[in-house]
Amino acid sequence: MNKILLLLTLTTSFKISSAQLITEAKIKKHITYLASDKLQGREPGTKGEQLAYQYIQKQFKRMDLLPKGSDGYLQNFTYKTLASPHDTIGLGKQKNGTNVVAYLDNNANYTIVIGGHYDHLGYDEHPSSLDKNKKLIHNGADDNASGTAGVIELANYFVNNDVKEKYNFLFICFSGEEDGLIGSKYYVNNPTIDLNTIQCMINMDMVGRLNDSTKKVMVYGVGTSPGYSNAFANLTTPLTLAFDSSGIGPSDQTSFYLKDIPALHFFTGQHSDYHKSSDDTEKINYAGEKLVLDLIAAVTEKLADQPKLTFTKTKQPEQQRVSFKVTLGIMPDYTFEGIGLKIDAVNEGKPAEKAGLLSGDIITEMGAVKIENIYDYMKALGTFKKGETSTIVITRNKNKMQFNLTF
Ligand SMILES: [Zn+2]
Repeated sequence: MNKILLLLTLTTSFKISSAQLITEAKIKKHITYLASDKLQGREPGTKGEQLAYQYIQKQFKRMDLLPKGSDGYLQNFTYKTLASPHDTIGLGKQKNGTNVVAYLDNNANYTIVIGGHYDHLGYDEHPSSLDKNKKLIHNGADDNASGTAGVIELANYFVNNDVKEKYNFLFICFSGEEDGLIGSKYYVNNPTIDLNTIQCMINMDMVGRLNDSTKKVMVYGVGTSPGYSNAFANLTTPLTLAFDSSGIGPSDQTSFYLKDIPALHFFTGQHSDYHKSSDDTEKINYAGEKLVLDLIAAVTEKLADQPKLTFTKTKQPEQQRVSFKVTLGIMPDYTFEGIGLKIDAVNEGKPAEKAGLLSGDIITEMGAVKIENIYDYMKALGTFKKGETSTIVITRNKNKMQFNLTF
């Protein structure tokens, strides 16, 4: 064997890092296609959804991953949506959705699931649209073409890193998430691998809008297994991580958690384009998403190097137990760390807008209740009835102001 050949052999036997395999350009390519107008917002049962799952399937096939749906890589399901949020008798429409499922077999006993939903709202007719009556496509670049690109790129990484991990990997792109986590619920109720063999589930939903000044990434579900503390110890990352223990949250990890599987959700934070036609590709932080995916690759490698995680139930977050009769019509800034509830966006025609509240305002009192954080706000909101008027105290540009607001 000559020296050059020897060198080549040595080089190829080294692990290839995620820094090399996951590139900004590939992330951009996936998101640009998935969030293009051609796919019309990827609503389940539409031509746009079909183009999206065909694209994802093509990527999995190119990597030689094994098909692990019920029909090749695909897993079809049907469901009924509620016609409107007020429809309690289920007169909704029948919809079809399709999950895309692929498997990396490392001949291991247990499997790590990496997933994210690829469906979105379609047009403004969707009940979850916050951009009503504008007849515009909701492209969902951050929600959740970003997470879908994440699943594809992590699959590519674990296939091509020249390491055989101690776990198998299952990659799933879910549909029907926006209609109520339908695709992930369907998967855990109709699994194509034994759920008892799942080490953990890692979900990415909205990972494309990293704030370059705070570099903050939220990680939900760290309380679902004591083993997670090891996985997040001694990581080298330029990102700042904010942890939340709860296994229940508004995305697909919840379906796995409810089957007693340790589950995480990575999220770069809420923004005012959420569920609007303005959630577009030009607002994605591609370099930021690469950092997030490098981080998830590193955490996953650590999880793949330790024994099967044990599951722990977490306390349900406060807001899950309060039911609201009223709404303020605002989007809270979940990343705000000061005292009060900061408004990220104000919805048109709703009580907050009518009372004169603006995005950026920080709510500090509602009626007699002091608002120090989002939980105080949720609790206070639960005490009001429709038609009731209350005082609201806010801070705007450091000035304290009071408004009357009718729910
Ligand atoms: Zn989403």
